[in-house]
Amino acid sequence: MPPTTSSEVSVRWGQKAERNAAGPVRSQARDEVTGLLAFAPFLHACGDALAAYVDATTEAEPALLLVDLEGIHSAVDLGAHVVTDEVVAVMAGRIAREVGSIGLLARTTDSQVGVLFGHLPTPAVALDLAYRIVAAVTSPAALPDGRRVQLSATCGLVTRAVVGPRASATDLIHGAGLAVRDARRSGRNRIEVCTEEMVALADETVTIGKDLRKALAENGLNVCYQPLVDLASGQALGFEALVRWTHPVHGAVSPARFVPVAEQFGLISELGAMVLSTATAQIAQWSATFGVPLAAHVNVSGMDLAQEDFVSTVEESLGVSGLPPQQLVLEVTESTVEPDVDVARRRFEALRERGVRIALDDFGTGRSALSYLQSLPLDILKVDRSFLDGATAAETARAEDLLRGVIALGQTLGITVYGEGIEDEEQRARLRASGIEIGQGYLFARPLPPEDAVALLKVQSTPVDSLSRRLLAAEGASHA
Ligand code: C2E
Ligand code: MG
Ligand code: MG
Repeated sequence: MPPTTSSEVSVRWGQKAERNAAGPVRSQARDEVTGLLAFAPFLHACGDALAAYVDATTEAEPALLLVDLEGIHSAVDLGAHVVTDEVVAVMAGRIAREVGSIGLLARTTDSQVGVLFGHLPTPAVALDLAYRIVAAVTSPAALPDGRRVQLSATCGLVTRAVVGPRASATDLIHGAGLAVRDARRSGRNRIEVCTEEMVALADETVTIGKDLRKALAENGLNVCYQPLVDLASGQALGFEALVRWTHPVHGAVSPARFVPVAEQFGLISELGAMVLSTATAQIAQWSATFGVPLAAHVNVSGMDLAQEDFVSTVEESLGVSGLPPQQLVLEVTESTVEPDVDVARRRFEALRERGVRIALDDFGTGRSALSYLQSLPLDILKVDRSFLDGATAAETARAEDLLRGVIALGQTLGITVYGEGIEDEEQRARLRASGIEIGQGYLFARPLPPEDAVALLKVQSTPVDSLSRRLLAAEGASHA
């Protein structure tokens, strides 16, 4: 028997779907708005395609393209479902014309269309189609009432080989979804192909998420403290609380890896609350013991900030710990505030009224948008050390000029600039020369477990500045 062509396969599925449509399950088989196959029968068809491939003699394999339609809600009045449906129907028609008979079409979600290829000869064929689909979707459309809309489209392609030989229909959809997510990260109207690495990373993320949930439930996470020091004397003025997790099998996992997973798995509120309550209690205690009002810097994730009860959670921690609000500094990054700057501003205003300070972290690593300095109520700007380093002397000089500009801007706006990631004396000296007085970095101390932070505070509180002497000795050694 000759191998079935992709168009034959899709036609056969089409007929099968029609048969379903004619029977009692008609309303579930087809999406009423677009006339495309509905999700459940489409999933079935994906399963059939994968099963059929096992016996196939051809190299061509099943593949799935997902097309996310974006901008529908901003293009039409929110809540106007009829209009939304009209837009989706128009776009589905355009996509159907591009696809023709080379794939099986379905409406997979409210604003997503799927194209299943029974036997895709090469990914290039689907990518070529994806480009045409993006062009079709992004060309403006007129609604019956005369309004014009223009959408964007994000496409993700997955082939059977990538999701593995025992892949299910759900794996195929999941893989294409991962590609859509990656495509969306790089901008509008992008097309991405799912890779084995993407699948492996997603699997690892699921494992981390599960283990993290368990660790949180069992109080298995710790907080370390990195001193923020007076750059002139080296004295600790406060500490940044940094969460730590030692996985029973994989060892230490970086917060840069597991904090985003906590966000994805809905664990960030719990994690954030744990760090906040631990750090405020700890710093309040050290402040009392050593008789100095130490600052407690706590990092806040974007999802945490977005919570309605964020301000009351902070107040509760302050109340329970007894830490004066003036000693608490909440650190946010540009990506934390980016999703909703207005919400961020409201939260910051409420917190600052109570005396809490807000720091913009990692300035210099992201877009370093000056608009945030203007639009958000900020107290501190932590400049990344990329502001000090360049690949060439000219670049370094330019970075320093920029730094001086940022400091001048901070002064005008009443924002104090801190340095971070200070690893050597030269960087410390350059920051000081630029007018920065406070900073943190491995030069002074790594993030410390509480007992080491106590040891540091003890040394610091002993008379005649043994710490300064130690630092001076270190300085002498590094200049020797
Ligand atoms: P961050 O808030 O900018 O924290 C500073 C990071 O730089 C820490 O990494 C710290 O260990 C590291 N660091 C300190 N001094 C130096 C230095 O001299 N050189 C270099 N190369 N690095 C230095 P860490 O602990 O791995 O944390 C990474 C990021 O994870 C943090 O960046 C923060 O964004 C996030 N994070 C950590 N703890 C928490 C937390 O409790 N909650 C939230 N939401 N995020 C956290
Ligand atoms: Mg920070
Ligand atoms: Mg930072």
